[in-house]
Amino acid sequence: LSTWSAVPAGPPDPILGVTEAFKADQDPRKINLGVGAYRDEHGKPYVLTSVKKAEEVLTASKPDKEYLPIPGLPEFTKLAAKLAYGAESVPLQQNAVAVTQSISGTGALRIGGAFLARHYPHAKIIYLPVPSWGNHTPIFRDSGLEVRGYRYFDKKTVGLDFEGLKADLKAAPEQSIVLLHACAHNPTGVDPTKQQWAEISDIVKERKLFPFFDMAYQGFASGSTDRDAFAVRHFVEQGHQIALAQSFAKNMGLYGERVGAFSLTTSDAAEKARVDSQLKIIIRPMYSNPPLHGARIASTILGNKELYSEWESEVKGMADRIISMREKLYNTLTHDLKTPGEWGHIKSQIGMFSFTGLTQPQTKALAEKAHIYMTADGRISMAGLNGGNIEHFAESVSAAVK
Ligand code: PLP
Repeated sequence: LSTWSAVPAGPPDPILGVTEAFKADQDPRKINLGVGAYRDEHGKPYVLTSVKKAEEVLTASKPDKEYLPIPGLPEFTKLAAKLAYGAESVPLQQNAVAVTQSISGTGALRIGGAFLARHYPHAKIIYLPVPSWGNHTPIFRDSGLEVRGYRYFDKKTVGLDFEGLKADLKAAPEQSIVLLHACAHNPTGVDPTKQQWAEISDIVKERKLFPFFDMAYQGFASGSTDRDAFAVRHFVEQGHQIALAQSFAKNMGLYGERVGAFSLTTSDAAEKARVDSQLKIIIRPMYSNPPLHGARIASTILGNKELYSEWESEVKGMADRIISMREKLYNTLTHDLKTPGEWGHIKSQIGMFSFTGLTQPQTKALAEKAHIYMTADGRISMAGLNGGNIEHFAESVSAAVK
């Protein structure tokens, strides 16, 4: 008998499974809207020019391949924190932000989960929006936190269930942890307004909740990294101590390079130093120290005026292309094809994804009849649409709901 004979087969990953089905389809009209990676106007993966130039700078400097320190490349973590919190941030200026490099956003969330499980002095319960990114629950559960949900999305309005959100956060036990998507909520594409963020901040204060921000899309929502950091900066200005997971996968297109950062705001430099020491103790037995190359690319861009402004305009270019696809899809569905139903959410939703409101049978029919692939919850990656396929997509959706 094999040692592993009792190991049961696990279910396939709900998102990566979509790509498998797409690859197997031989029809030339096929479209993959499942994957959360940017595609250019020809449907191709996009390597940013600023990234290519940073790599040239790096190659010319003939860097070695020595190990990084446990918390990663110091220039990178410093610049990543500045990008998120803003140069004017009080805790940054007071040297009170503990920050470590991470294996992209996922690794940042996992380090944060492990740190909270070990050191958070209150009940280790984390509230996630319903729905949330599919990996949040397993990340925090595997970190040792109890995972609960707060209402977020209203199926009827295809928008924010703000009343439900407020009621659930008010009803959460005091000092619970609450996960907030900083911008471009995945999978719904629905973000709170500035006014709503201010109200959420008040409730978090009132209930003494601990805010953990996941910022995987800074710059991708509005095209401006400053604008997209509003919620994070507002909470810090309001005196909250926060945890923050950052990813450079989307905004620098560094998906496979695994570049991210995890940070905690603390009360002063001495406390930061103690927190830093414990972050190292968590990381060392997990993976010892993070990868070099991507962090070097990101810090080269963030630390060089010219490359930084080129990068900013490329982020804006990606965000703008997605926004223009939203406009085009909305106009084609409503004006040209007179598709029944309300489609305003296609335009109002933010970031890479749109929750279309398509049902599971409709998404299945779209795959079988039109060779269009998306997750079963009706989420589409807007970045997968382009001038060459948007007509086929809109016509197929229109047919599916008629
Ligand atoms: N958080 C959210 C909400 C995401 O959508 C993603 C990626 O899809 C991540 C975190 C982490 O991605 P990565 O580990 O590639 O940075």
